[in-house]
Amino acid sequence: MKKTKVMIEGAMDMETELLIASLEQPREYLFGTWRFVEGMYKNVPLVVAVTSIGAANAAAATVLGIEHFKPAAVISQGTAGGHDPELQAFDIVLGKQSFDASSYRTAKEDKTDWRNMELMGGYAYDQHTKAFYPQEVYCPGDEGLLAAAHKTAVSYTRGSVVDGCIASCNSWTRQKERLLYFHENFGSSCEEMEVHAAAMICRQYAVPFLGIRIIANTEFSDAEFQPEAAHVCQNFVLNVVQNII
Ligand code: SAH
Repeated sequence: MKKTKVMIEGAMDMETELLIASLEQPREYLFGTWRFVEGMYKNVPLVVAVTSIGAANAAAATVLGIEHFKPAAVISQGTAGGHDPELQAFDIVLGKQSFDASSYRTAKEDKTDWRNMELMGGYAYDQHTKAFYPQEVYCPGDEGLLAAAHKTAVSYTRGSVVDGCIASCNSWTRQKERLLYFHENFGSSCEEMEVHAAAMICRQYAVPFLGIRIIANTEFSDAEFQPEAAHVCQNFVLNVVQNII
């Protein structure tokens, strides 16, 4: 059976180099400043997108990758910081949901209480309903990709694998009170900078999407950024693509 083509995204070289090295017959493409490498991994056709850091880059690379390679599915993978205090470095969060953590409205008040914020969500077109969905906060991950990731989780030995909620935006939070606020009020498991932007673009194209993020740093057990986690996540994702039906 011919397997479907999957685009795997990562922001930094350390988050994509192992994927690229795993490809047979690699072919390189540069569109603008965004690098793509297409090839086979075992019997699965893959496109690895090196998106660069942040939401704008992730959105741009996702559009370019979908237009040029027509993948049947997209996975945004890489490192993240913990919001859920239970999560340890090397635990993996499967993005059952994601949201834009920079999209909020504060209360109208003279003094600043930063906690008085309400998530606003984004604007995007949904190909399935043929309508704009204004200000929907959470974007769901694809159930089929989630099932493939669950199958892979059984043999993951470096930590636990949990279904969770990924908070995306171009900020890096190190304040425990704020991390807990997001976790307790908005249900976030971890934070990073690309997943939700890619999720929204995939939704507009009706391409199945999943965010898969490894905890590479967490303030709760005082773990500084661990680059090794980026490699562990790529190996996990290479197993996930084998399990997609
Ligand atoms: N070490 C890098 C900085 C990475 S910037 C450097 O100095 O160049 C952030 C990147 O890491 C983004 O791609 C983001 O998705 C991911 N990331 C990992 N942990 C994060 C955290 N705690 N908060 C936000 N982004 C994080």
